[in-house]
Amino acid sequence: MRLLLVEDDPLLGDGLKQGLQAEGYTVDWLTDGAQALHSLLTESFDLVVLDLGLPGMDGIDVLKEIRNKKVVTPVLILTARDAVEDRVDGLDQGADDYLTKPFDLEELCARLRSLLRRSQDRAVPLLEHDDLTMDPAAREVHLGKEKVDLSLKEFVVLRYLLEHKGKVVPRERLEQALYGWDGEVESNALEVHVHKLRKKLGAKIISTVRGVGYRIG
Ligand code: CA
Repeated sequence: MRLLLVEDDPLLGDGLKQGLQAEGYTVDWLTDGAQALHSLLTESFDLVVLDLGLPGMDGIDVLKEIRNKKVVTPVLILTARDAVEDRVDGLDQGADDYLTKPFDLEELCARLRSLLRRSQDRAVPLLEHDDLTMDPAAREVHLGKEKVDLSLKEFVVLRYLLEHKGKVVPRERLEQALYGWDGEVESNALEVHVHKLRKKLGAKIISTVRGVGYRIG
């Protein structure tokens, strides 16, 4: 699960990053609202923890923008502003939950688990290409009527390519989807996943665009 943490307080951000990593999330941490907006519009995350008072762009405006652009990733707002209007405003703008600072990590983790469960219950459209069908919610892939077993990382790569069907996806994007920004990437890990996907789904499904990345369709 890849989580974007947006928090400009260095101490709190660092503590949260470590705590969430210990819970098993791949955590990318940003401290600036405008950067967060850019990342949310160009990359995929499973969850967002968003502070409201941020340099660059206010958290509420980031939220408004991504919901306008139809980004449906669940967002939990962190706020020191405990005024009722601020909470209502956040929920009106499309936040899924909020926590008022100070809070404890256990409560944050419990709320995130519940957000994830809710988002996975939401109807997610099937992704298709020729006779390949992916059901992201059920984590299932079929080739014609045959079910194909994929590892989690193979699934992540295939999903990202299908979500960007017809476009060349740079290899850095795929590596980020797999490992986050500062994760350890073994130099040929992506090639290995693509190789296995081709073995399971047919050599032609994924095209290599030399020096750039990969493409489906
Ligand atoms: Ca702040």
